[in-house]
Amino acid sequence: MARPITIQDVKTFLIQTASAGTRFIIVKVITSEPGLYGIGCATFTQRFRAVAAAIEDHLKPFAIGWDVMRSEEFFQMAMVQGSWRNGPVLNNAVSGIDMALWDIKGKLANMPVYDLLGGKSREAAAVYAHADGRDPQEVVDNVLKYQEQGYHFIRVQMGGYGGKTMQQAKPEGARNGNYFDPRAYTRAMLKMMEYVRAHVGGDVELLHDVHERLSPIDTVMFAKDVEQFKLFFLEDSLAPEDIEWFRMIRQLCATPIAMGELLNNPHEWRLLIEERLVDFIRMHVSQLGGITPARNAALHANVYGIRTAWHGPGDTSPVGHAANVHLDVWEPNFGIQEWCRFDQLIYDMFPGMPEVRKGYMYPNDKPGLGIDLNEALAAKYPCKDEVDFWTQTRLPDGSPARP
Ligand code: MG
Repeated sequence: MARPITIQDVKTFLIQTASAGTRFIIVKVITSEPGLYGIGCATFTQRFRAVAAAIEDHLKPFAIGWDVMRSEEFFQMAMVQGSWRNGPVLNNAVSGIDMALWDIKGKLANMPVYDLLGGKSREAAAVYAHADGRDPQEVVDNVLKYQEQGYHFIRVQMGGYGGKTMQQAKPEGARNGNYFDPRAYTRAMLKMMEYVRAHVGGDVELLHDVHERLSPIDTVMFAKDVEQFKLFFLEDSLAPEDIEWFRMIRQLCATPIAMGELLNNPHEWRLLIEERLVDFIRMHVSQLGGITPARNAALHANVYGIRTAWHGPGDTSPVGHAANVHLDVWEPNFGIQEWCRFDQLIYDMFPGMPEVRKGYMYPNDKPGLGIDLNEALAAKYPCKDEVDFWTQTRLPDGSPARP
């Protein structure tokens, strides 16, 4: 094997299936060693063409010729090589190559990525599933369904984020949008949680995602009000712009707090970790720039007794889920892993996808990330150019709100 092994080509795949809905951005890094390649996730589903252009037009010319062993140096240089830096488009582009380099190095070492990180601390990652419903009874029915499948951690929502399917009184001439009423939402969620606890008991671990839908002071009140339901955590209760308000929540209640899927850069989570304002960091690994910065964030959090709960809904690609689970089984401070469920088409398109059985996600023990892309199948499912509607969120009077 001739050394150094270098990057020879970078390919970007844009994939959208009807079942998964979201658009996946997958990167394949081809090396100078015949047959040796790696794959990574660069999924920013709402701005997929911008990420693809960042990879193809800017990162690829920079990456070609790079020694695949020097993944740390690649990450550091790729983050600053454009001088102006950070943000989801560029970080996701870097992640596609960063993850692929970890995959390649695992293949070269004949080791799974979790072994490169330090080896397993556990056999599998406990996952949480999403139970939603139009009313409290439907939420209970869905919680029971998941319990039967072996899930012990279940996120409970009603009417989607912010309870948006509840009836709204809009002003005349109100524009189209995804309306929700923050105060009606908190009242309905408290009733729902009371009903769920009364019907499923105290042993199942419940979670809830506010999705930054509340004003800061309403969040403080809500975090206090839900303390009695002993949630495993309350997710993204504040927007990144309002994180100092977590100090007030901390003084007033012991509701466990998880935060971070919109964060991009260590500057944004440093305060949360060092002031111990949260209990779980839950960034979207590709949005940080890949496995390299996620490893650093996990270790930073570990020093402060904070656990991880990496973002893992349907807009995390199967390759992103594989990266998550390799981190999860290694981390000394793993907390929980978010999981959505994919249909058979996605398992066929991504051979080696992590498997979930009875509430646990298992990495396979193949070298690297252990996942591959069936390119011929993926080519049949190109991305569609559509304007997302669910992120066009509005308050009762019609004014724009955070999604
Ligand atoms: Mg969330």
